[in-house]
Amino acid sequence: MPLQDQLYNYFELDQRVRAMRSRLDAATRRKDAQQRKLDQLKQAAAELDQQLKTAKAHASTLQSEADAIDERINTQRDKMNSATSNKEYSALLVEVNTLKADKSKVDDAQLESLTKADILDAEAKALGEKVEAQSKLVANATKEVDEAQSEVGDKLKELEVERDAAGEPISDDIRKTFDRLSHTYDGEAMAEISEQDRRRMEYTCGGCYTLLPVESVNALITKPDQITACGTCNRILYVSSELRESLAASK
Ligand SMILES: [Zn+2]
Repeated sequence: MPLQDQLYNYFELDQRVRAMRSRLDAATRRKDAQQRKLDQLKQAAAELDQQLKTAKAHASTLQSEADAIDERINTQRDKMNSATSNKEYSALLVEVNTLKADKSKVDDAQLESLTKADILDAEAKALGEKVEAQSKLVANATKEVDEAQSEVGDKLKELEVERDAAGEPISDDIRKTFDRLSHTYDGEAMAEISEQDRRRMEYTCGGCYTLLPVESVNALITKPDQITACGTCNRILYVSSELRESLAASK
């Protein structure tokens, strides 16, 4: 098989592999994107949960403080009732008033903490719902990937084997060039030449539509074991069998 045909064969199989794989890739990309979103939501939920725990713990600490102050106030009030002098009574009264002021501050701080905990709790619930909804999206996307996989998986593997076999007779250098072009042009490493005017020998590159020099066209026809590339876009050129036959017939 001449090099040009080997390359075209390889190209055609590669195109089929790419088309089949693109569905699978698209499904996988969609799944990955949904999964990333879910991970972010879960991370945010974990952080919120931590903040909520901190706020609740703080409120509970303040509650203990308030209880301790209350206990102290009660104790001092009892002492006031059994005070034996005005001086003792006044001193206890000052202390109780100071304790009441302290208690009021602790109560305010506790209320603030509880309010914060309530807000965080509501946020955590809303976020939890988002996590749940997002988990469903991930599950659906995963199902789509599985479906695509079972649908094209085996066929894709067979086709890849076939394509790789078709590439074997082609030298490494040429295959590297092909792969590089394939990467650049998203699989379109080769371009078919298209006839504009046979009498004037006008042919264009099917990839970039540039008019090709006559020598390129001649080389394509007469040197099937050589690569002829478009001078403008570098794609490897090929001639359809119909055009080749009709050109051969007209000579
Ligand atoms: Zn071109």
